[in-house]
Amino acid sequence: MESQKPLSERYADQIAHVLIEALPYIRRFRGKTLVIKYGGNAMVDDALKHSFARDVVLLKLVGINPVVVHGGGPQIGHLLERLGKTSRFVAGMRVTDRETMDVVEMVLGGLVNKEIVNLLNQHGGHAVGLTGKDGGLIRARKIVLKPRDPAVDASEIIDLGHVGEVESIDPAVVDMLVHGDFIPVIAPIGVGEDGVSYNINADLVAGKLAQVLQAEKLILLTNTRGVLGKDGELLTGLTAAEVEKLIADGTISGGMIPKIRCALDAIAGGVRSVHIIDGRIEHAVLLELFTDRGIGTLLGGKA
Ligand code: ADP
Ligand code: MG
Repeated sequence: MESQKPLSERYADQIAHVLIEALPYIRRFRGKTLVIKYGGNAMVDDALKHSFARDVVLLKLVGINPVVVHGGGPQIGHLLERLGKTSRFVAGMRVTDRETMDVVEMVLGGLVNKEIVNLLNQHGGHAVGLTGKDGGLIRARKIVLKPRDPAVDASEIIDLGHVGEVESIDPAVVDMLVHGDFIPVIAPIGVGEDGVSYNINADLVAGKLAQVLQAEKLILLTNTRGVLGKDGELLTGLTAAEVEKLIADGTISGGMIPKIRCALDAIAGGVRSVHIIDGRIEHAVLLELFTDRGIGTLLGGKA
């Protein structure tokens, strides 16, 4: 049997320092709800998936209540490609016909959701996967895109098919799971009044859910360092007016637009802080939560 080597003094010092630094944060966040948006582009490699799962399980074990919402755009894209189905994108959203929606539901509600559930459980958590259909969690409405030019006639309104936004959230099933010490893992699929399924951007679901749950924090893991400025510098503490300016001049584009807008909405809706952080860094969630410096873009207050 290998004998345990004594820790070098410096290393021991570092470990003790890290643990002590975490203590006030653990105390502050105990019993609080944290909504974490994971996946899509941050869910890339196996080591990262495991480090994410360990972070979430650790949070639960120290008395914090994590609720995971996941995306899956790239995974949906891969299966559609294998099925030989091409998609058209409008304003960063996939035009989703009935057949595509079936694939979305299989990939998000099936493969991706259960992969995350399984990962958390492998690391000692008790995770339960849901879509927005379960327990009537997410009521959706169809997104209708109007062309920018008012001269274009109404028949030009772009039909995105089964692409929705959140109409309302009934958090009863999430509350029940959280109180039963489970970690809810939510796929962003909602149901319209007519019973039709809608695919919703996971950032939007996470943002609304954080508001409804009056979460302490919303954490959005993505595949960049945070919100970046024109010269690639990390931006933090942005106001709504600053964000709209950055969108208007093209500095913020694509998937970062719904992300930052839902972050601002969440703050306006009573979530204490929103963190947009780099999911490509191992243990990004722990570093952001439990160290004084943190990483990524912060909106609202750190406390
Ligand atoms: P996710 O799966 O995390 O939601 P998205 O692709 O939807 O990923 O959104 C993140 C992407 O937004 C980044 O990878 C980047 O390409 C793009 N983006 C556009 N503008 C910015 C910006 N100003 N700062 C950071 N990322 C930006
Ligand atoms: Mg996105």
